[in-house]
Amino acid sequence: MTNMALGMSDRLAPIHQAVTDMIRDEIAPLDQAFLAEVDIGDRWSFTPRQTEILETLKARARERGLWNFFLTGEDADGPGLTTVEYAYLAEEMGKSHLAPEVFNCNAPDTGNMEVFHRYASPALKERWLKPLLAGEIRSAYLMTEPDVASSDATNIAMSCLRDGDDYVLNGEKWWATGAGDPRCAVYIVMVRTGDADAPRHQRHSMIVVPADTPGIEKIRAMQVYGHDDAPHGHMHFRFTDVRVPVENLLLGEGRGFEIAQGRLGPGRIHHCMRAIGQAEKALELLCRRALSREAFGKPLAQLGENHDIIARARMEIEQARLLCLKAAWMMDRGDARAAAPWISMIKVEAPRIALEITDQAVQMFGAQGISQDTPLARQWTALRTLRLADGPDAVHRRQVARAELKRHTQQPV
Ligand SMILES: Cc1cc2nc3c(=O)[nH]c(=O)nc-3n(C[C@H](O)[C@H](O)[C@H](O)COP(=O)(O)OP(=O)(O)OC[C@H]3O[C@@H](n4cnc5c(N)ncnc54)[C@H](O)[C@@H]3O)c2cc1C
Repeated sequence: MTNMALGMSDRLAPIHQAVTDMIRDEIAPLDQAFLAEVDIGDRWSFTPRQTEILETLKARARERGLWNFFLTGEDADGPGLTTVEYAYLAEEMGKSHLAPEVFNCNAPDTGNMEVFHRYASPALKERWLKPLLAGEIRSAYLMTEPDVASSDATNIAMSCLRDGDDYVLNGEKWWATGAGDPRCAVYIVMVRTGDADAPRHQRHSMIVVPADTPGIEKIRAMQVYGHDDAPHGHMHFRFTDVRVPVENLLLGEGRGFEIAQGRLGPGRIHHCMRAIGQAEKALELLCRRALSREAFGKPLAQLGENHDIIARARMEIEQARLLCLKAAWMMDRGDARAAAPWISMIKVEAPRIALEITDQAVQMFGAQGISQDTPLARQWTALRTLRLADGPDAVHRRQVARAELKRHTQQPV
């Protein structure tokens, strides 16, 4: 492959510097203060202090033009970066809890904004995309269901039947990230519109559902290793006769998979870029601790296999970053099918190495590592979930293996 430019471009360098500086000096120092506020009052609303922290930082980022970087390519609403360029920024954002939202580059909104941008009517764009791009509201993506193996999305069963000028939705969804946030105003919902005689990948559709539509019941917040992740949360919903105007169906009946592929590709790679940032942060904390604490008459760094642990971590981060940049580069070439196995490769590798390095850092901190006194425990749980969210490891390995086998046979694999 020729001209595979994976380095930092000249135009990106000053933006990267501004983002790095702002995260280090202004955002990361407020992460703990923001998170501590969650335990005050109603966990599912923002305290005045939380709102002040977030909105002040967002306003500053926007003033400086550090906003909506995820909109890559020739997009009037974004700075027009490539995915490779965005990768460098997302890695930095992964190092702070608040940073992705401060730059309006947070999941799941980025994926949802891309869906609105690519597939929504002008009226839906005006109503939902505009305030999302401005960071005024938030959104959620509802695909996964409790009663079916959702890693195979052809199983999705929420019914969506036409009745006059409306569709009527019935069923349950769970793990809707961000839907607990009081600012979350809209859901993009994957539903079943076709019956058994339609081809498997043409039975589903995506529909836009305002969060305040009657018939939507928030049953509970799912917990991640005992934590509810308030105020954003991962919500479990029941839909009972939820009526949505037919104009809210995106692209047309049976085209849900087409949209899901467009949405999940970039989203997955963004998670991976942030995971690499988290791995870097864990390794830095690990090294600082290993140098500053002594046992058995020596700094921890010099004990046991700690040199090997540090060396392995550095080598794995470098490998993962290059793989991530190559996947980003494949996406920039515009051939989604060719990019897919690369996205799957990094979707398996980045969470795996980041989780392992975070675990080693936890170990180096001793008991403090699993406590609230370092960001490592929280980071570990978030990374562990990434081995499931947006497709479990095994499903992505299957994609990689099938792409490999297809190179050697004309038969279905
Ligand atoms: C923190 C978090 C946030 C999430 N956010 C969202 C969200 O915002 N919106 C949303 O819709 N969903 C979300 N999810 C759900 C997530 O996308 C699903 O959990 C995931 O797709 C897997 O579906 P499932 O849980 O039904 O597992 P299943 O489909 O039941 O799979 C379970 C296991 O079966 C095995 N398996 C499946 N397929 C294969 C295969 N081909 N080969 C080998 N083994 C296989 C794997 O071990 C897999 O882990 C989130 C999940 C978490 C944990």
